[in-house]
Amino acid sequence: MADKLIYLDNNATTKVDEKVVEAMLPYFSEDYANPGGMYDFAKKVGHKLQDAREAVKEFMGANDQKEIYFTGCGSESANMAIRGVVNATPHKKHIITTKVEHPCVLNTYKDLEKQGHKVTYLGVDADGNLNFSELEAAILPETALVSLMAANNETGIIFPYEKVAEIVKQKNPETKVFVDAVQAAGKIKMDFKNTKVDFAGISGHKFHAPKGIGALYVKAGTPFVPLITGGHQERAKRAGTENTASIIGMGKAAELAIDALSDELTRVKKLRDKLERNILQNVFNARLNSSTGNRVPNTTNIGFEYIEGELILLYLNEHGICASSGSACTSGSLDPSHVLRAMGVPFTALHGSIRLSLSRYTTEEEIDYTCKVFPEIVEKINKLSPFQKELAELKSIKTHN
Ligand code: PLP
Repeated sequence: MADKLIYLDNNATTKVDEKVVEAMLPYFSEDYANPGGMYDFAKKVGHKLQDAREAVKEFMGANDQKEIYFTGCGSESANMAIRGVVNATPHKKHIITTKVEHPCVLNTYKDLEKQGHKVTYLGVDADGNLNFSELEAAILPETALVSLMAANNETGIIFPYEKVAEIVKQKNPETKVFVDAVQAAGKIKMDFKNTKVDFAGISGHKFHAPKGIGALYVKAGTPFVPLITGGHQERAKRAGTENTASIIGMGKAAELAIDALSDELTRVKKLRDKLERNILQNVFNARLNSSTGNRVPNTTNIGFEYIEGELILLYLNEHGICASSGSACTSGSLDPSHVLRAMGVPFTALHGSIRLSLSRYTTEEEIDYTCKVFPEIVEKINKLSPFQKELAELKSIKTHN
């Protein structure tokens, strides 16, 4: 194992902030009461849950605490919204989504297709952007739901979900809008009360809270059928004794993320841009798999032509650098990313694409070290490529430009 650890896989998960751990600790073996109890010992925990709900309400820009439901993860939030709408409107069999969603959304739609729903998958252009006329044309009287992500987990590209919700409601006010905001949380400001979005899901472990806790925003008055039935927790919309320590931890993480948004993320963006610029300048077969524009500040996705991304990840690992080739759920599979394929990334770079994602814990020294070793690593791997002629041609084109 390398003696360094440089963690550049923060879109997969993040380190739990020490202040979050500190906030959670009393709720394991001191204040361990079930918050549903009638006695003061339980009420004390109940009040803390309210504080956490208030913090998440502020973080997501909701109007009211009652619009926030705690869930078990981002995947559950997505399922709760999608299946919740579909089950509340059984006569409407049409759904619209995009080709670049996370598997927790795409596989839910595959399941609904088996149950007789028709799903329209919107494409994206080479920069990962949606075509609004295509979206508008796809909305039908029987469209139950339009669902899209706020920010893509592989490329960081931001979808203008506010505008999408406007278009949807103008064409069909009955159609509901779900936003998978898992990769936006903590990276861009969320203000759902000032949008026409009906549902939005987040996941604690993407913004320095623990794994296994999430939240769903539901605009007041929006009907949906619960996914988990049982007790009366979460106003009978998500049964199960509350994960008190994790909810309190996520509340703390939400407060910290609000504080960190401007200052820290300007710093993170600078580091991301430095890393990206260095790699693109110093590695002749590197190409950026998106535009530099509308992205969350911590993510870059770079394709290395004629070589295997998995090999880059292995060599990076030898230097203690953690990165990945796509979503945490699909890395480990050798299939090229569905996101990059939808964007039309050329075949020559599709297998050699990797994602680097930073956080507020990433330091300048870590980025400098990564910038230093990256060209050396790719140079070594280039020598192993069966495409020597193509690499030589590419090198000569790049050096003459
Ligand atoms: N949505 C997006 C965009 C994600 O990146 C992820 C996780 O990587 C999820 C949903 C699922 O979140 P969770 O792992 O909490 O289920």
